[in-house]
Amino acid sequence: MKEKALVIDYKYCTGCHTCEVACKNEKDIPVGEWGIHLEDMGPIQLGGKWHWDYHPIPTALCDLCAERVSSGEEPSCVKHCLAKCMQLVDLDDLPRVLRELGDGASCYIPAE
Ligand code: SF4
Ligand code: SF4
Repeated sequence: MKEKALVIDYKYCTGCHTCEVACKNEKDIPVGEWGIHLEDMGPIQLGGKWHWDYHPIPTALCDLCAERVSSGEEPSCVKHCLAKCMQLVDLDDLPRVLRELGDGASCYIPAE
């Protein structure tokens, strides 16, 4: 598979947990383990405003859905994300994609 990265735009994550479930079903991940895990950041009050942010973070079990992707499908989490804030991008395109998404976007690249 060509070198790729999973990009998540946290600004638009609603904390729905769908990516977690989609990943566990796709990879048959047992109870207590995760391929991607939602970190709940809040509620906290900063500068008089309330914030409640969600950060889904891929784990070492994430292989970017190599098998699905090699057969032409999207990663399971990308396909099922209700907010459409996840995407798989070629490493060559990564700097441009992150620049365009701006603050709040992050990427995950599995270790070799
Ligand atoms: S790319 Fe596949 S393995 Fe990685 S978090 Fe998403 S569903 Fe799980
Ligand atoms: S499926 Fe999308 S919106 Fe839902 S928790 Fe995962 S990244 Fe956030």
